Formats: sequence, C-alpha cells, structure tokens
Amino acid sequence: MATEQPPRRADRPARRQVDSPVYSGTAGAAGEVYNIWYHKHAGGREFGNINKRKQKAVTKCNLDLDSGYTRGDDQRVPYICLHFARGCCFKGEECTYLHRKPTRWDQARLDLTHDIFVRERHREDRDDMGGVGCMNKPNKTVYVHFGGAATYGYEKLQQMIRKTFAQYGTIESLSVKMQKTIAFVTYDIRASAEFAKECLANQSLLGSTADEVLDVRWSYDDANPRAVMKRKRELEEQMASAVQKKIDSMPESERVNHNLEASGHYPSAQDAVEDDIDRYLDDDPYYDFTEEEEEEEGDKKEEVEAAGNAGASKSQTAQEQSEKGGASNALGLLGDYESDSD
Ligand SMILES: [Zn+2]
Repeated sequence: MATEQPPRRADRPARRQVDSPVYSGTAGAAGEVYNIWYHKHAGGREFGNINKRKQKAVTKCNLDLDSGYTRGDDQRVPYICLHFARGCCFKGEECTYLHRKPTRWDQARLDLTHDIFVRERHREDRDDMGGVGCMNKPNKTVYVHFGGAATYGYEKLQQMIRKTFAQYGTIESLSVKMQKTIAFVTYDIRASAEFAKECLANQSLLGSTADEVLDVRWSYDDANPRAVMKRKRELEEQMASAVQKKIDSMPESERVNHNLEASGHYPSAQDAVEDDIDRYLDDDPYYDFTEEEEEEEGDKKEEVEAAGNAGASKSQTAQEQSEKGGASNALGLLGDYESDSD
C-alpha cells in the first residue's frame, strides 16, 4: 500500500448537488447538523421493515457530474462526504470532505475504527446488517436485494449488477442468486464497499426500467471465522460466570434448586445460535436459503457460521445489558435483549 499515490486532484471544483439541505433532524455523519436519513419516513430506520415496499431515494450521486475538488482535497483527509455519496451535498467545493470515489490511497489511510465517511464502526453488526458495519470482518462484500430486476434474466442481470457496482470500485467477485433475487458483490477494498453501499442504497440498477429499489446491506459472507469462534468462546465463558455469580449470591436454601435448574436450562451459546438460525429462516430473503439452491458445498457452512456470528452478537448484547442491570437478570440473559438502534 505504501506505493499508492494520492489520486490526482480533479480539474474542476465539485458542484453542489442540491441547493440547500434537503432534510432536517438529528446529526448525520461527522458532526453535520442536518439529517439525510430521509428513508426514516418510509420505514422507521435506514432500511425499514423488509416486508414494506421500499421507497426510492430522493437524490442520487452522479459520479461523472458531481465529482470534483473540495476543501477536503487541500486538507488531504481520506474521508469521503457521506452526503455526496447520497447525492445531496449542498456545499460543493466548500465541503471539507472529499467529493470523489475512494481509492486504495484512501483505504491505506483509514483506521480500523472508522469507515470511509469517518463514521465510527461498531464491535457488532446491526441486526439487519445495515448501517456502518462492524470491525470483526473486512466488510468488503455487500449484499443486494434486487427484487423486480430479476425479470431481466441471469445473464443480463449479472451484467447490469456488475456495471452498476463497478462504478464505485474494483469488483473482486460477484455472485447472483436468482431465486432469492439477491447478489453478493465483493470489492477489493473496504472503502469501495462502504462507498457503494451508501451510493446505491434505495437506488436502481443502471439502465433498469424494472422499478426495483435496491436494498444494500453488509453481507455475513466475509465474517472472519476466527473472530466468530473467539466471540463464541468468550460468550460461553461469560455466560457460565454470570450464572455462577447469581447462584453464589443466593441463600443456601434457594441455591440447591437453582443449581439443578441452571445446570440443565440456562441459555447456552449453542441455544442462542440455534434460535437465531430459526428466526432468520422465516421470511427474510437474505437468510432464506435451502439446501437445493446452494451451488457450492461451502456455502451452507459459511451460512451457519455467519448465523452463528449473529447469535453470538445478540447474546453478547444481552450479556452486557445483564451486567448493567445487575446479577438479578443472570438467569434471563437472552430474555430482554434490545437491539442497538444505530
Ligand atoms: Zn460534501
């Protein structure tokens, strides 16, 4: 990476994508005061409920027309403007972030705890795999649900997806699952995946007239198996020690009963993993794989590992909450877990 050159400064200033802030509300990236989470109106969160019809994004970044130099170039920051990616930066060349697609040079300057838009990355993925993403994996693969665009057929669709996603970076691999109307796009660098995910959220494929609204999220596929195993072991140890603590704090008379109960019934990490697989298989197209659709032998295993990761995440959250709430909750670790909303 040391050999990477900084990208050449653009010949022209970045243009303003909109005349004024389009959206109002809570803070966005990097301390910006206006909110561009306009999808909230449609679904409650960035991606809303998958069963609801997604609303197409109001603005879109046109890389050819919108890219240009900004004050961010003078300051040599490696951070891309999030509003630019979403097509709604009103600052143009006055913006202190970059208005161009990220390169390997930018990636080499990124630290593990921030994404290319200088948002903090989390220890865990969000439940719906939206948002910023987590530090436990490379995050170079995005999942995309293309819905109605499936009418183009496999060959044509594959071309369309490749063309659409290649605008934002170098694609390393592409896998299209027609039956589920989903695809997995892997970039060579994380910064490109992060950028593409924001640029294409709630947009449609290049040249498509199928009226699809792309749902772009993080993929479980590139979860680091070693990190998953480590999490699982930590979780098991924490579970065991939390239960033991609870038992130790009980009066002698109660302890006998609870000892029996706890040894057989307290939620183990294994239970958590199984619970979560069942839940995901219900109606979310992302998780709804069946044996006969798997093209490669390895797929199923990866899926289970990935779901295992999710199970570990949830239990971990429950564990943290339990610690906050005191030992009284130790036997109901999985009972009142709440999702992290960002
Ligand atoms: Zn900007």
